[in-house]
Formats: sequence, structure tokens, C-alpha cells
Amino acid sequence: MDCEICGRGESVAIILIEGAKMNTCRNCSSHGKIIYNLRDEPKKEKPISSKTQEVEDIVENYAKLIHSKREGMGLPIPVVAERINEKESYLENIERGHMKPTLEVAHKLEKELGVKLIEKLVEEVGPTAAVSASKGITLADFVVTEKKRSK
Ligand SMILES: [Zn+2]
Repeated sequence: MDCEICGRGESVAIILIEGAKMNTCRNCSSHGKIIYNLRDEPKKEKPISSKTQEVEDIVENYAKLIHSKREGMGLPIPVVAERINEKESYLENIERGHMKPTLEVAHKLEKELGVKLIEKLVEEVGPTAAVSASKGITLADFVVTEKKRSK
């Protein structure tokens, strides 16, 4: 469809001019208030359809894991601390469970000691929950239909 104002450009937006809706090209869309942008629409919809994000978290028994692994490898705290470029006291506190290592430190310890300290959690964000809910309704409807048929 061509622009309803200049008649030349490809219409990419619907704008409101003096109460009238008009299809306009990008250049002419500045003449009124944009109420619908055809070009931008797909970009906005895409992330909504399925949105999950991976979240990294430190495992709960990190202190034991680090301590036993380090002892098992026969590495004193100062050696490990130096290798991962952190303070001895910080590492001591982590092993005692007094302090939770940051993800950065946990990554370094994982690499250095060959121990798994980080778990990845998949978090569902917003609209996905709505999608699952609607799927649940569909499934329930399906079951009801099947029951009716079997009678
Ligand atoms: Zn135009």
C-alpha cells in the first residue's frame, strides 16, 4: 500500500491527523500522531512469545565442595587464593560458609579446582506463564472432549 499523504512512499505506519487515520510512509508519519507502526510491530512481538532467561546461582553446599576438593588436591588456601587472585581471608570465609563467593570467583574456583559451584536456573519471565496457562486450558478441554466421545 502506498502512502496516503504523498502517494509515493511505502506506507509503514498508521497515523492520526485531525481525527483521521491515514496510512503513511516513514517521512510523512511525522505529520501526525503515530498510532500503529507496521515496521516495528514484528520486532516488539518476538521476545514476548517465549521468554526464558538463564540465571546463574551458586550451589548451596559451595563451602563443603570447595573445602573438600581443595583438601583432596592437597592445595593450601594461600596457593589457591594466589591462583585465583583473591585474598586468603576471603577464601577462608567462603570455605567456612561465612561468605558466598561472587559468580566471578565461583567461576575461577570451578576452573582451578574442577568442582561444580554454579547451577543454571531457567527462569520464565512474564508472558510465558500466560502461554502455559492457556495451554493448560486447551489440554483440559481436550480431555473433556475425549471423555464425551468414549461414552
Ligand atoms: Zn508519504
